[in-house]
Amino acid sequence: MATSISREGSLEAPTRHPLDWQSADFYDQASLDKELERVFDICHGCRRCVSLCQSFPTLFDLVDESESMEVDGVAKDDYWKVVDHCYLCDLCYMTKCPYVPPHEWNLDFPHLMLRAKAVKYRQGNVKRRDRILTSTDTVGSLAGIPVVNGLVNAVNASSLGRQALQAVLGVHKDARVPPYVSDTLRKTEKARIGRSATGEAAGPTTGKVALFTTCYGNYNEPGVNADLIAVFEHSGIPVTLPEKEQCCGMPKLELGDLEAVKAAKDANIPMLKRLVDDGWDIVAMIPSCVLMFKQELPLMFPEDADVQSVKAHIFDPFEYLMLRHKHGKLNTDFKKPLGNVIYQASCHQRVQNIGQKTREVLALVPDTTVEIIERCSGHDGTYAVKEEYYASAMKIVRPVAGRVEKAAPDHFGSDCPMAGAHIAHALGKDGEQQHPLSLLRLAYGL
Ligand code: SF4
Ligand code: SF4
Repeated sequence: MATSISREGSLEAPTRHPLDWQSADFYDQASLDKELERVFDICHGCRRCVSLCQSFPTLFDLVDESESMEVDGVAKDDYWKVVDHCYLCDLCYMTKCPYVPPHEWNLDFPHLMLRAKAVKYRQGNVKRRDRILTSTDTVGSLAGIPVVNGLVNAVNASSLGRQALQAVLGVHKDARVPPYVSDTLRKTEKARIGRSATGEAAGPTTGKVALFTTCYGNYNEPGVNADLIAVFEHSGIPVTLPEKEQCCGMPKLELGDLEAVKAAKDANIPMLKRLVDDGWDIVAMIPSCVLMFKQELPLMFPEDADVQSVKAHIFDPFEYLMLRHKHGKLNTDFKKPLGNVIYQASCHQRVQNIGQKTREVLALVPDTTVEIIERCSGHDGTYAVKEEYYASAMKIVRPVAGRVEKAAPDHFGSDCPMAGAHIAHALGKDGEQQHPLSLLRLAYGL
């Protein structure tokens, strides 16, 4: 190994350095290659992450098949194969790697992949398909126009349409592509925008929340957000909507388009900060969007006080409900048992380090058992719909679907509605997944 002998792991708590994304060195290809070689060399000697995703097996195969059987035998051009398989789930950093800072090896694999993606993006090496798929709010607002909406859904539903979509855009013909609605959440709930309300504070919560609807929760599955509103209001928590909202920027982050992430930040943060100043906490039902405000934006903009303020006031919905329960403020008057529930804890929720809050809340429902699957679903943003990665995504989801099948549950799903849909797709049960917020609403009999 290129690095000198060092102790295994660190005794101190892991820390994460801000992302140095505005420095010239960040985009320097030679500097990036040097760092990739250093980190790949450490990973090749470690191999703990081999089962997490396809990035690591791709790297280890490249090394093992090279002439020297070391990282120096791998062509630099082949590094992109490793980078392209990374969907920034953060699991390697948060759950496996003993060499993360403050360890002297200072290894942050996901952020190195992010840097490589940003370099690639700046070089203009990006597919049209990926630009379109990551423009979630533009696609959603176009596909949400009633006439267009019918057309998009018809294309989605027909096998000829799907073959055309694969040929023209590289969206795999068998991947599950979500339907688009014209009655978006922000349309049906527009009366909530700008409302005033008083919350009953408890612990770190103010007792009133602004719902960041998210692109998917607005255009694709507004029903889950409607369930969130019903559940929160049943516990006396008023819900408002931000006056305007743009994609949180996570899809653009995964593409390496960091200027677009900044633009999304500039659009969302002032409006969310105003809500925080008015006493509203923020919640969002997509774990990736919460993580964007809790972790990625604060690491990209460590000096921005407004970003830090929003970070301090944004919550996962079940984290919020459990905090309220701790202070006796959660309605526990459940009307219906849920029976046997199994759900996948999504990667971007697990790396928030909030514990198993979804399980804790659902377990409050009488005559209900809750089993968690802590494995990646393989959906991961746009990974599962891409022609070249669909097979990998289906391979990753197989053990998760197998666990669901074995449990023969009354209900299954995921904290991430897209992951839940991908699991159902793997089971041949499209549409049968239920989000935990929908289950909670069911248990309340609302
Ligand atoms: S962040 Fe996730 S997808 Fe990327 S290398 Fe780590 S485990 Fe794999
Ligand atoms: S990211 Fe860390 S734990 Fe994973 S293979 Fe590399 S060195 Fe090992």
